[in-house]
Order: sequence, then structure tokens, then C-alpha cells
Amino acid sequence: MALDRIQTTTGAARPEELGRTLIHEHVLVGYPGWELDAKAPKFKRAEGMARAVDQMHELQSFGVKTFVDPCPMDLGRDPVFLAELSQKSGMNIVCTTGAYFEAEGNTYMFRQMSVEDVTEIYVKEIEEGIGETGIKAGAIKIATGAPTVSAYERKMVTAAGRASTLTGVPLISHTQDGCCGHDQIDIVTGEGVDASRLVVGHSDGADDPDYHRSLADRGAFVGFDRFGISMFQPDEVRIKNILKLVEAGHLERILVSHDSIMCWLGRPLPYAQRFEDLLAALPKWRSTHIFKEIIPQLEARGLSKTQVEQILVGNPRRLFSPGHG
Ligand SMILES: [Zn+2]
Repeated sequence: MALDRIQTTTGAARPEELGRTLIHEHVLVGYPGWELDAKAPKFKRAEGMARAVDQMHELQSFGVKTFVDPCPMDLGRDPVFLAELSQKSGMNIVCTTGAYFEAEGNTYMFRQMSVEDVTEIYVKEIEEGIGETGIKAGAIKIATGAPTVSAYERKMVTAAGRASTLTGVPLISHTQDGCCGHDQIDIVTGEGVDASRLVVGHSDGADDPDYHRSLADRGAFVGFDRFGISMFQPDEVRIKNILKLVEAGHLERILVSHDSIMCWLGRPLPYAQRFEDLLAALPKWRSTHIFKEIIPQLEARGLSKTQVEQILVGNPRRLFSPGHG
């Protein structure tokens, strides 16, 4: 895939077509084994689709053109649902290949595989499509736990680095407790990936401007991508740390998102028995929150409209297509 084409669930897009992009949101999420949870309400596909279409339309009212759903293979990923949602809503939706971190992923099967096996699976999903669907992954999800990267995670991230080098697609990460971003950069650059093709996701979990700056200094994107999840970090801390990173000269390395979820498959344990209860406990954790409440605050505290567009449009475009920022 040439770097001037971005693979969405409904076909290849040109960099100019991405527009305002949310880099880390989810339509469907279910932990491995979710389908065995007989106590959970059954997932009603048509209702979920209707709700997701409505939410995409609301995002479009804020100018969002592209929705990146970095759901790993083992977290309820459903590319057919995403492609249908894209067709119904008109939103560009990008899906990913890749695996979740050891403590919360489907690790038994992947543990048996060599790094070469895993690389081949990732490349297949990027170049030929996921399963028999023909829907191609446009990026690779990587994930590490805390406080250190396990041997399993190191293997999976190594395979992702190799697959990124072979195919040219970027890497979007999960970090746990705002740590191990440098390990992720070390592993993928060791496989030939330029650090600028990686978002170190959930870096807003660390209230540590030196950590953020050190990631950006190496050329990686820094994900402030859990806006609205107050149980992990108050938004005020996220805003303060974004402004510090801008002051340090790293506007072009910042990406913002919510890690929001539209439909939960199974029960959202251990956080709540019902997804509705989790949504009620986190009233700001919605994919429109940045546009309603965060951008106005960033602008009130000195960011210009041009700088905001750099974060929402230019930076995601450069992650996918270097040279198009
Ligand atoms: Zn996520």
C-alpha cells in the first residue's frame, strides 16, 4: 500500500479525505469470552447499528470525517459491522489488526505462535483483508501492560513492527498506567519503523510532562486519547499537559481522542454490571466531548484555531501519510 492511500473499511482514501480525525475510539468492544456471558443482555445488532449511526451523525456535525477504531483482533472486533456503519453514516472508519496486552487479551493461541506467524497474520489482514471479508486493516494495534513489557507483549509488538515495515501502515498503541511508551518505541524502531509512525496511546494516563516530552523528542505521537475517563485522569490534567507539550514545541506530535465505546459486548466487568451504568458513571466519556468542552478550553487558554486544526487534521494525516501534514 502506497503511503498516499489510507485503507478504510470501505476502501482506500486519499490523505486529504481524512479531515478531522478521532484517532482512538471504539464502536464495539468485548473482552475475550464475552460471548459466553449468559448473564449479559444479548447484543442487539440492529439497535446497536442505529445508535452508532446517530453518534456518527452527531460527530459529523462537529466536522469529523474519519473515525479510527483500533480494536485489536481479540476484543470483539467486527469489521463487517464497521463497514456497514461507514456506508450508512458516511463516516470514514479505519479498523486495525493487532492484539491486546497479555493480562486482558486472548493470549493462549497467540502464545503458541512464532513472531513470524504473527507477522504473516498481520500482513495478511492489511494486504488481503480480515478473514473472508476483503475488509483491510489500515493500521496495527499494539499493546503493553504495566509496569513492564512481558515476553508475550514483546513478541506481538515485534511482529507489529515488522508488519508495519513491510506494509507501510502506522501503529496505534495501548499503554497501561501511562508507562512503557519508550519500550514500544525501542521495539518498533528496532524492526525498522520510524518513530513518527507510532502513536503512544493513553499517554495521558501519566501526569508527567517530562515523559510526554521525551516521547515527542524521539518523534512519536503522544496520545491524549482518554478524554472524559475521569476515573483514570481528570481532563484538567490532560489539558494542562497538552499545553505544556505545545509550549515545549511539540504541537505536531499531539493526538486527542476519548477511547469511547458505543456498544459493549457482554458485561463491562469489573467496572459495572451494565454498560448503561458505566456510561452514567462517566457522563463526559462520549466521542463528542472534545468538541463540546475541551477545544473551547484549549482555545480559551491560548491555542489558536489553526493549532487546533493541526491536532485534529494535520497530525492524524501525517501519522497515516508522512509528508501530508
Ligand atoms: Zn482503546
